Amino acid sequence: MHLQPRVLVTGGSGFLGSHLCERLLEQGANVLCLDNFFTGTRQNVEHLLDHKHFELVRHDVTFPYYVEVDEIYNLACPASPIHYQHDPVQTTKTSVHGAINMLGLAKRVKAKILQASTSEVYGDPNVHPQTEDYWGHVNPIGPRSCYDEGKRCAETLFFDYHRQHKLRIKVARIFNTYGPRMHPNDGRVVSNFIVQSLLNRDITVYGEGSQTRSFCYVDDLVDGLMRLMGTGDAVTGPINIGNPTEFTILELATMVIEMTGSRSKIVRRPLPENDPRQRRPDISKAQEHLGWQPKTQLQEGLARTIAYFEQLLTQEGIKASL
Ligand code: NAD
Ligand code: UDP
Ligand code: UDP
Repeated sequence: MHLQPRVLVTGGSGFLGSHLCERLLEQGANVLCLDNFFTGTRQNVEHLLDHKHFELVRHDVTFPYYVEVDEIYNLACPASPIHYQHDPVQTTKTSVHGAINMLGLAKRVKAKILQASTSEVYGDPNVHPQTEDYWGHVNPIGPRSCYDEGKRCAETLFFDYHRQHKLRIKVARIFNTYGPRMHPNDGRVVSNFIVQSLLNRDITVYGEGSQTRSFCYVDDLVDGLMRLMGTGDAVTGPINIGNPTEFTILELATMVIEMTGSRSKIVRRPLPENDPRQRRPDISKAQEHLGWQPKTQLQEGLARTIAYFEQLLTQEGIKASL
C-alpha cells in the first residue's frame, strides 16, 4: 500500500534533477533518483540522502531497469556541449536507448512519463521566437548532432509509444536554464561568466556577442515541469518551457561584471560551429495549458547563482580545477 506517488527521476543528481528531487520531496512524493554520475554528483543530492522518502541509485539508463513507479521524469543526458561532445556515441545512446528503456518501463507499470527535451530540437532556428509547431533547422552530422538528434529521436519514440501503446506522455522543450548547482566548468555561458568574473579573469565572449539567449531560473523551470506532469492525459506537449526575455551575450557579460564588481575585461573568442544566432521560446502553450510563466527576473536569479558560486569557490582546491 502506497499513498504517496512513487516518482522516478533519471539524471536526478544533475543540475535540474537535484532541484526537481528536492521539490518533489517537499510535495510529499517518494523519490527514486537514478544517475550514472557522468555529470551529476552525489554532492548535489547529499542534503536529501537522509530523507526517508529519498533513494539514490547508480544506474546507466542505456541498460534496462525494473522498478514499480507511478511517474517518471526522464532527465538523464549530459546537457552542456563540453560534456555531451566528450563521448558523442554515449550521448546518443543515452537519449535513444535511455528513452526506449524508460518508455518500456512506463509501459509495463502504466506510469506517466515526462521527457526533458530541449530547444536544441529547433537547431539554428529560421523561425523566431520558436513555437512548438516549428520543425527545426538541425544539422544531422555536426558536432552538436549527437545531442540535438538524440533528443529529436527521443521525442519520436515518446510519440510512437503514445500512439502505439497508449502511453501517457509529456514532452517539455526546455530552454537555457541557470541557477545554483550548475557545473562550474561545463563551459555554459552563465557559469563561465560568473566564475570568470569572480576570479577576475577575462570574460570570454564568443563571436561578436550579438547572439541571443533567454535564460530561465531553475526554480521556475522545475515548477513548469511539475505542472506539465500534473496535466490531464490530453496534454502531451511538446511544450516550450523557458523564459521569453531575450538578452545578447554581451548584455549578459556586462550584467555579470557589474553585479560581481569584477575587474575582468571582455575578450573575444571564435564562435563555435553551428552556434545558434538567436533563441527565445514562445510560451503561449505553457501559459494556456499549465497556467505557467517564469517569475524570476534575470538580475534576481543571477544574484542567487553568483552567491552559490561564491560559496563554491571557497572550497579547497576548487580554483585550481577551473
Ligand atoms: P546535468 O548534466 O547536470 O544533468 C544530467 C544528469 O544525467 C547528470 O546527473 C548525469 O550524471 C546524468 N546522466 C547522464 N547520462 C546518463 C546515463 N546514461 N544514465 C544515467 N544518468 C545519466 O544537466 P541538466 O542541465 O540538469 O539537464 C537535465 C536534462 O534537462 C537533460 O536531459 C538536458 O538535456 C535537459 N535540458 C537542460 C537544459 C539546461 O539549460 N540545463 C536545457 C535543455 C534541456
Ligand atoms: N524495459 C525496462 N524496464 C521495464 C520494462 C522494459 O528497462 O520495466 C526495457 C526493456 O529492456 C526493453 C525496453 O524497455 O528493451 C522497451 O520495452 P518494450 O516493452 O517497449 O519493448 P520490448 O521489450 O518488447 O522490446
Ligand atoms: N558563450 C560565450 N562565452 C562563453 C560560453 C558561451 O560567448 O564563455 C556563448 C555561446 O557561444 C552561445 C551562448 O553563449 O552563443 C550560450 O552558450 P551555452 O553553451 O551556455 O548554451 P547553448 O549554446 O547550448 O544555448
